[in-house]
Amino acid sequence: MIDEKNLIEGKTGKWEVILGLEVHAQVISNSKLFSGAATKFGAEPNTQVSLVDAGFPGMLPVINEYCIEQAVKTGLGLNAEINLKSVFDRKNYFYADLPQGYQISQYLQPIVGKGTIILDLPEGRRREVGITRLHLEQDAGKSLHDQHPTKTYVDLNRSGVALMEIVSEPDMRNSEEAAAYLRKLRSILRYLGTCDGNMDEGSMRCDVNVSVRKPGGELGTRCEIKNVNSIRFVAAAIEYEARRQIEVIEDGGSILQETRLWDTNKGITRSMRSKEHAHDYRYFPDPDLLPLKLDADWVAKLKAGLPELPDPKRTRFTSEFGLSDYDAGVLVAEKETADYYEVAVGSGPGGRDAKLTANWVISELFGLLNKSGKSIEQSPVSAQHLGELVGLIQDNTISGRIAKDVFAEMFETGKAPAKIVDEKGLKQVTDTGAIDQAIDDILAKNADKVAEYKSGKDKLFGFFVGQVMKATAGKANPAMLNERLKAKLGA
Ligand code: MN
Repeated sequence: MIDEKNLIEGKTGKWEVILGLEVHAQVISNSKLFSGAATKFGAEPNTQVSLVDAGFPGMLPVINEYCIEQAVKTGLGLNAEINLKSVFDRKNYFYADLPQGYQISQYLQPIVGKGTIILDLPEGRRREVGITRLHLEQDAGKSLHDQHPTKTYVDLNRSGVALMEIVSEPDMRNSEEAAAYLRKLRSILRYLGTCDGNMDEGSMRCDVNVSVRKPGGELGTRCEIKNVNSIRFVAAAIEYEARRQIEVIEDGGSILQETRLWDTNKGITRSMRSKEHAHDYRYFPDPDLLPLKLDADWVAKLKAGLPELPDPKRTRFTSEFGLSDYDAGVLVAEKETADYYEVAVGSGPGGRDAKLTANWVISELFGLLNKSGKSIEQSPVSAQHLGELVGLIQDNTISGRIAKDVFAEMFETGKAPAKIVDEKGLKQVTDTGAIDQAIDDILAKNADKVAEYKSGKDKLFGFFVGQVMKATAGKANPAMLNERLKAKLGA
């Protein structure tokens, strides 16, 4: 089905954009895929390199079982087939930071086969995208061109680090879907604890395959934009590349299958090299490694031990807490936020109002976190304290208005809400006598306005409320004040 909204208008009519993504996700593991060397980010160059990673002759790779477990978990989290037999191949190419002269990867028999991922799009729209495969492979080292005026240095710390290459079907049709795919994939990887999804540090890198065609026509030739390192750039690169291809074709040219680079400064893609084909790499099974065979029971055990993932968690948040699909979606997008919410809302008879708690997390907490550039793990307000604050609103100790001031101070000082309310004497006035007294004072002082009100100027009601609130320093219980004021005005 072609969605008209996705089509791009060219000189010769409308065009459809076809997108597939390949993501290299670094496996969370203390050691490398085939060696015991460490994988810590940011270590001094060449301090985390074993002889295997440096490609010394005669060294033998030994598979890291934990990395296999991480890949299988990821496959299960993507609702994918787990292949009980997979094979490691040598992908041969020469590069200065690839001392072996080949990368150990998986070609014809990857560890994970077809799966699916559900995209969360604006206005609550959802769309399923196919996963073609996930395979395990080694990362290469890194060439450093900025250390010396005439020399290139090589850092092999990354050489041999385990990567999961996750390939999607060409199911996406616009940059918004590609961005949603990356956000959802990253969320699932983080929930699973199999990749930290940190694009700045290169632990998640994205190659984008872009082609265009006349709606419903034959697939066009695709270009691959390599190693785009932020979701925003992925979207920008797609917008640019689709336009470029349409213009080339409409001007009578044809698209060459090639690898392109996204130039962040210029906002364009440019040609890097003509696309190599699989046969260029002379893949063959690595003779140093036996085919990898997994035990079905072991896979079943991993499946049973998977954490609750974002899609089922969102469904549970709507049914268990009565939240809207939108609010639940916002709360489950990051595991840390979902965990925070669940602690704040509490459970059982002492539980807080779920919708009110969600509002406080989504508007107030997110607002101050954004402003201060902090993540939820760095929040000065603990989930426990936020829950207590909601509790104080719920039992009428403070009004929602006062709660905002209390919250600002909690964020500033990390103090418990009850302590702030106590220290500052912010407890709501719920004593009818005191409220009546304050109302009587205001009405006596404004006899003229009372008369106007009684002759039909209803809007003055708000004025009286404001005056009483002012007189009580905002502490009068709003519902009570409304009720008493109405009674006294004979409304
Ligand atoms: Mn790869």
